[in-house]
Order: sequence, then C-alpha cells, then structure tokens
Amino acid sequence: MSEGILYIVATPIGNLGDLSPRATEVLSQADVVAAEDTRVTAKLLQHMGENKPMLSLHEHNEQQRIESLLKKLQAGESVALVSDAGTPLISDPGYPLVKAVRLASIKVVPIPGPCALISALSVSGLPTDKFIFEGFLPSKSSGRRGKFEELKHEVRTLIFYESPHRILACLDDLESVMGAEREVVVARELTKTFETIHSGSVAETKQWVEDDKNQQRGEIVLLVAGAPFVKQENQDQERILTLLMQDLPLKQAAALTAQICGAKRNELYQKALEIKASKEK
Ligand code: SAM
Repeated sequence: MSEGILYIVATPIGNLGDLSPRATEVLSQADVVAAEDTRVTAKLLQHMGENKPMLSLHEHNEQQRIESLLKKLQAGESVALVSDAGTPLISDPGYPLVKAVRLASIKVVPIPGPCALISALSVSGLPTDKFIFEGFLPSKSSGRRGKFEELKHEVRTLIFYESPHRILACLDDLESVMGAEREVVVARELTKTFETIHSGSVAETKQWVEDDKNQQRGEIVLLVAGAPFVKQENQDQERILTLLMQDLPLKQAAALTAQICGAKRNELYQKALEIKASKEK
C-alpha cells in the first residue's frame, strides 16, 4: 500500500475569500484534518459545506499525536494540517510533526496561502529584499528590551507578532532601545473590516496608538526598519562592551574594550553610560 501525504494547508487570516481553491480541495479530500482548535476549523469547514473527522493538534498534545498520525500516514491515509489562521508552523503548532513525518520519509506537501507576516511586509513600504521574523516578542518589558538590544544594529527589516494589549508598552521599549526616530509600521487586522496600516517614527506611532484606543485591539504585526548601516567595527565594540558591562564596573568595561578593539577609552565610556541609561529607562 502506498503511504499517505501530509498537507500543510494555509487558511485565511480574516477574510474567508482568501481560502484558495487548492486548499478547499485538499481539505475536502483529506481523510483526516488535524487542527489547532477543532472548533475554529469546524467553522471553516462549515463555510465550505464540509463536515469531516478532525483531530486536535496543539502545543500541549502535539508529541502524543505524532505517533497516531504517523500510523495513519503509513496506512495510506492523507492528513491535512491547519492552524486557526494563516500558515501552520508560523508561530503555530506543527514543527515537531513535520520533522517526524519527513524523518519517516513520508511526503509533506505545502498548500501555500495567507500568512500575516508576509502580508504585512508586502504592504509596509519597508525593504523586502532581506528581513527577519522574530515571532512573538517576550511579554515582559525586560525581555522585550533585551530582544531589541540584540537586534538594535540589525540592518534587515524586523518583523514581530505582538499582542494588542502590549503594543503601547512595546513601542515604549522600542523607543528607549532603538530611539524615537526609528521607522515602524503597525499592520492591524489585515484582510478584516478594520484593516489599518500605519507607518511613522516610533515616537509618532506611540502617540497615535495612545490617542486612538481602537489601535490597541485586534491582531497586530509590528515591523521595524533595519538600522542604518554602521561599520562592523562599531557593532563589535558595542557588543564586547555590553558583554563586559554585565560583570565589570563601567570604567573597567570601557577600558578593556578599548584595549581589545584599539579604540578610544573615553568614547567607549560615554557609550557605556548610554547603554546603561537605555537599560534603566
Ligand atoms: N500562522 C499565522 C500566520 O501565518 O501568520 C500566525 C499565527 S500567530 C498564533 C497569531 C498572530 O499573527 C497574531 O497575534 C498577530 O500578531 C498575527 N496575525 C494573525 N492574523 C493577523 C491579521 N489578520 N492581521 C494582523 N496580524 C495578524
């Protein structure tokens, strides 16, 4: 008997009209639909006029499900994996399953379609040739600032998923680490009634979100323009300095970095003060 196929099926991120004809066909013909939340997917299947067997597959049961899904695939059944919205595995369950199925040399077929990060990037007006997707930002301010510190000198466009309840606090952290002038884009409720795409500096966008509480609702992709190109040398100095500052007094960290990099001690001490201030803000 020939083995089945695991289909990774993208579903709409808001507008049901975005369900592709191929996704509809695969979902109708699959023996089993593995869904992140069967109640959410039941609505999608209803919309298609389908009522078929579903299995839940979410972050808490994914490991247990793998074995039974592998058996079904080995028995020749076809399985369609969907998440609540968008492309499965993108900040959604599915990675351990795909890994296991590929390891078992069973075919995995993509059924491409909506994905919030790509939709947001495509309309952002920010460079699209190179970008980084970081998924969800940490929920605590200290974690977010740490992440922004790490990415502060990154020249590629940065893309994050962020909760609407945290967007203001997040922009605040971004401002303190990357400065008020860094350009950002907030892409909210894409493909839905209240779709909004706002570009501006961090400071202006923060004000805009503060002034209009509706901007703190719904689903959000946050994009941040990459850093202007800075010499690699300066980036290395700052990295070394930041690391040494974790264990040494500022003056000593600056002096050591100056020795290691052959740079000016005073300038590095000033830089150390700035880094310290941005962390304490
Ligand atoms: N797998 C999905 C995808 O392909 O984009 C992402 C799932 S992740 C659990 C959900 C997050 O994606 C939301 O919190 C939000 O950041 C983003 N998102 C999903 N739908 C969106 C939409 N219609 N507009 C803006 N952001 C959206």
